[in-house]
Order: sequence, then structure tokens, then C-alpha cells
Amino acid sequence: MVGELLKGLASFRRYQYSADNPAMPKLVAEGQSPRFFIISCIDSRSNPGTIFRAPPGTFFEHKAMGAIVRPYSKETALSAALQFALHYNKVDTIIIMGHTQCGAIQALADNIDDEAISSFISVASGALQTAKNCCEGHDEILARTEQEVVLQSVKNIRDYPSVKSALVEGRVKIKPWLFDMQGGDLLEYNPKSEQFEIISGSSEYDDCRQD
Ligand SMILES: [Zn+2]
Repeated sequence: MVGELLKGLASFRRYQYSADNPAMPKLVAEGQSPRFFIISCIDSRSNPGTIFRAPPGTFFEHKAMGAIVRPYSKETALSAALQFALHYNKVDTIIIMGHTQCGAIQALADNIDDEAISSFISVASGALQTAKNCCEGHDEILARTEQEVVLQSVKNIRDYPSVKSALVEGRVKIKPWLFDMQGGDLLEYNPKSEQFEIISGSSEYDDCRQD
């Protein structure tokens, strides 16, 4: 039933349309200016809007199974959205956020026999192979694949024309993130250590370490 959604909407209206905090009417009147563009998995448990408890107007969002970013091609939802975010708005940070226990990565590792799904996720098979080359055991391979998919997606997104020009002009940063669903931690890839490291709860987060 959709009652639980309407209950959530009532709460949203109470907080974001109140006389004390007319955040939504203000955003409608003045326009939006989000700084972030978040690409995440479709998984209902790693939804950025839920886990970051962000007020309206905080980020643009794009969802794809496994948070997979395919190599650039024209006429895709993602390429149009990035163009809009980077050239007609002031987004300065793109976040690609995978997550642990990802069903899409599991399906990739299990070589799922479903053309509608496999035709999309198979683009990440290079990440699975990298994981197989360096890890042993099913769980370790899955965990490493989740990380490698994020890194591969970062590599791919850098080739999107709108992103490429924003990078050249120094207008945007790209952050490879992984949400640990079990523990609730957020991890970011650190190119110096070549590891995903926990940043949630860190009071000394360096916003400039990625470029
Ligand atoms: Zn997922």
C-alpha cells in the first residue's frame, strides 16, 4: 500500500513547508543550486536521500544498477543529466557511490542468466576480473568487485564531454565512495594508500584530496 509513502510526505510537508522553515517554497521561488551530483545503485537500502538526510535542493541524483557508469555514449539519461548539472547549474562534486552486499555485483559474479540485466551489468566484467586476479574466496572477490566497479565508473565518467571539460577547467571533483550497509560507514578511495578508507565520523575530512 502507498499509505506509508503518504505518511512520509506528510512529515516532509510538515518540516519543509512550515512557517518556521519554508525551505521548499523558498527553493521554488529562488531556484535550486545543488553542489553535488550523486550516482548510486537502485538498491532501496543505500538511497542517498535517506542515508544523508539531506534537505531538498542538496543534490542531483542518478541511479543505475550497481552505480555502474557505462563508457560514454550520446543520448543517454546520464550524459544529458551531467550536461545539465555541470553547464546549467553549479555542481562542483560528482559522487559515485557503490555499496556493500550489492545485488547487481552479486548478479555479475554469478553470471546471471537474464539478458535484460546481464546486458547492462556485463560492462563491469573487467572489475570482476580484476578482483578475481587479486582475491580468493567468493566473499572477498565480491567485496573487491564492489570497489573496482566504483573505480571503473569513475574512470568512465571522466570521458563524458561535460565532465571532461569541467575537469580541465578545474570546476569539478569526482569522489569514489562506498557505503557499507552492514556497519553504516561511508568509505572513500584514497589514491595514496590505494584503499577505500572510512570517512564517516571523521572530523578531519580533507575535501581536496580528490581531483
Ligand atoms: Zn546495489
